[in-house]
Amino acid sequence: MSRTLLIGFVCLLAVLTVSLLERPEKVEDLEEDIINAQNFYEIPPLPGKDIYGFITEGENLQIDESEVRRNESLYTILREHDIDPQTIYNIQQEAAGVLNLRRMIPGQKYRIYKNEDDAFAMVWHQSKVNYAIINWQDDINVETGMVPINKVEEEVAGIINSSLYETVVDAGVSQRLGVELADVFGWEIDFFALRQGDHFKVIYENLYANGEYLGIGDIIAAEFQHRGRVYKAYYFENDSRRGFFNENGDSMQKELLKAPFRYSQRISSNFSHSRFHPILNQRRPHYGTDYAAPTGTPIISVGEGVVTEAQRRGGNGNIVQIRHNNSYKTAYLHLNGFAPGIRKGVKVEQGQVIGYVGQTGLATGPHLCYRLYVNDRPVNSVTVDLPAADSLEEQYHEEFQHQVNILDNRLIGLELHSEIALR
Ligand SMILES: [Zn+2]
Repeated sequence: MSRTLLIGFVCLLAVLTVSLLERPEKVEDLEEDIINAQNFYEIPPLPGKDIYGFITEGENLQIDESEVRRNESLYTILREHDIDPQTIYNIQQEAAGVLNLRRMIPGQKYRIYKNEDDAFAMVWHQSKVNYAIINWQDDINVETGMVPINKVEEEVAGIINSSLYETVVDAGVSQRLGVELADVFGWEIDFFALRQGDHFKVIYENLYANGEYLGIGDIIAAEFQHRGRVYKAYYFENDSRRGFFNENGDSMQKELLKAPFRYSQRISSNFSHSRFHPILNQRRPHYGTDYAAPTGTPIISVGEGVVTEAQRRGGNGNIVQIRHNNSYKTAYLHLNGFAPGIRKGVKVEQGQVIGYVGQTGLATGPHLCYRLYVNDRPVNSVTVDLPAADSLEEQYHEEFQHQVNILDNRLIGLELHSEIALR
């Protein structure tokens, strides 16, 4: 089950700082229902019955499995199995409100249950997980259900050569794992500046239903080495909370996001106490991080807070300022425009869109100048250590530490494989 793959190798050339985390255009998304179905996994079928609850033994029982074809509907399928139009009409009436019968899509699987050639029930799969049972043997009965989901743990390790997503895909894993990894570590690691040679190890779940692969489940533990520093995350849940914590039990989630974008953007100019200003032709401090991004790119608030300014102001162009708490304040400059409802005094949530990238004020091209202030002093948002959300409560430490020890042993095992492969 352990599958360690080493992808790429450490480049001997100068280490290139390139944006290695470009989100792929289209991420293979798990259907919402699969994610929601995770609480229903591993319920074995009753003896002598299939997972839909039908008795499978019996001389005269017959099950026809098929797929919805183009232009097929519940009506045409049931008519094919000699169900009379009145019964079909009654089924449709019964199904209204439970099922959307118009959403029969070619390729969806269904099965018809027959007794002595008389069809008496149908199971229609709207997805690999979700299904509906239509039974007209006695009274008409329509209900929906979910296939039990099996979780199988997997392990993978990789060295970043091109991009995180490519590395994950080259390792034979869905690029979804890259998205999940970025979500786990995105609070702490500057994913906009991954480097060749950065590496990761992950213990995660694969989900299966009916023997069919559904996709990636949860990450259980992961390690990310970035610029020589090792970051670790362990999933933990108890009665009151669930999430990722580092080895000390501190929440991986921060009060403030590392950067004000949903997707990675290229840093075009770093925080500096003395930078040559391209328009003013002189050296001045640059108390922000510039992200080059196309005009109109949504900008999100890095944390919950109150808008203290949203207006056009000289060389700053359109600016939004947000006060997050007594010590943290952020500013977003050169905006093309403000998001609806963004004005002085309104409350914003973390991740809420507040405006769009532009080049208003003193700017040579479309970019966001993002500024972070701690106690009203500008700090480098890329390098600063941000405060974590609440740590694990004392009473869970022992249980958590026990889990960390077990998972660490597995992560160390993964590293050994990588080192062997490196030589
Ligand atoms: Zn700037």
